[in-house]
Amino acid sequence: MHDILPGEVSKWYFIERVLTETVNIYGYKEIRTPIVESRSLFERSIGSESDIVSKEIYAFKDRKGRDIALRPEGTASVVRAFIESGMSTEKRVFRLYYYGPMFRYDRPQKGRYRQFYQFGVELLGGKDPFFDGEVVVMLHTIAKKLKIPKPYFLVNTLGCPQCKERYSGIIKDYFSKKVDHLCNDCKKRITSAPLRILDCKNSGCKKMVSDAPVISDLLCNDCQEHFKKFEEYIKVNNVPYKIDFHLVRGLDYYTRTVFELYVEGEENALAAGGRYDTLVQQLGGPDIPAVGFAIGMERIVNLIEYNTPAKPFFYLACIGEIAKLKGAAIINKLREEGIIIETDYEIESLRAHLKTANKTGARWCIIIGEDEIKKNEMIVKDMLTGKQLDISLDDYINKTKELLKC
Ligand code: AMP
Repeated sequence: MHDILPGEVSKWYFIERVLTETVNIYGYKEIRTPIVESRSLFERSIGSESDIVSKEIYAFKDRKGRDIALRPEGTASVVRAFIESGMSTEKRVFRLYYYGPMFRYDRPQKGRYRQFYQFGVELLGGKDPFFDGEVVVMLHTIAKKLKIPKPYFLVNTLGCPQCKERYSGIIKDYFSKKVDHLCNDCKKRITSAPLRILDCKNSGCKKMVSDAPVISDLLCNDCQEHFKKFEEYIKVNNVPYKIDFHLVRGLDYYTRTVFELYVEGEENALAAGGRYDTLVQQLGGPDIPAVGFAIGMERIVNLIEYNTPAKPFFYLACIGEIAKLKGAAIINKLREEGIIIETDYEIESLRAHLKTANKTGARWCIIIGEDEIKKNEMIVKDMLTGKQLDISLDDYINKTKELLKC
């Protein structure tokens, strides 16, 4: 887990602004759900056999002995809220987005943290493949707006639950014959979750995956048609993509379309998502299809360049008790006008004030001492040029605003 320090925050703001502005254009509304949920929510959605739930979840008992967990992702909570709030009873498409910290007890490394931020969207109530296409196009638009260099998508279909089940059986048979070459985790996955072997990062398992059967050979007509239409939609919108018939995602709830966003030369996906047509029902709601994705904020932050010149601001140096009291009123009048100004009430000497003003990076230092009070003036020192000018205390707001325009 890590801190986001003041110098980095403006980059986060920039990314957050691009994300929210873009998804707003597509009609998405924000939803905020709690960070803590019942552990069973994630077992029932992501899957109790998944790495996320079986190895990485931060789960504990609360004071009444209930099993709770820090959310490892956002979709399960959004779907829970969608059902509990009654939104799921309305027959229309909902476009929702969320943003916040997620928690996974992963091995920390570049791009993989134990607390990380996800920005995600969920489109609930649409089964047409063009909805899948639309969320991918939106993600591509986001990548372009963030000036991510050479983004591309890996896409695949996992098929409907029946196709997925059939494919899972074939994968199970295929790897059962090669069990000795699999890592210990994958040996267990053969019975519990064979498709997850396709997602294993172990180099030995990876080698065998490249020759494994592909799902495209056994998809039903509807699933084939769905994938074809999805492809047409993203093609016509110039989305760069490659089909990876072995792409599966580490979460149980995906059906049909799955996709990941990559950038050339980076190993980790920047964002990932897909269709999850059975999850709403699985969590106790009606039969409502859905599709969505989540973007890993840290991965974007690590990737993009963002430098903005800081806004110029003032520092106030008051010397002596009378000047200090006068300054107390002036500083807050300026702030009411939206002028950025700071001070240190404990510093007594002008020298020390100027030193501090320099350290903070202030563009101007306003100086008020007893002489200035007598003359009803303040001195404004330009910290870059060293030049000083006197400003009447009757007109200091307009004069400081004029300086900001220069
Ligand atoms: P997932 O929820 O596993 O589908 O992941 C969606 C996206 O979240 C990934 O593509 C990453 O960008 C990001 N992500 C997932 N796990 C982590 C992590 N441990 N640290 C940082 N980002 C992550």
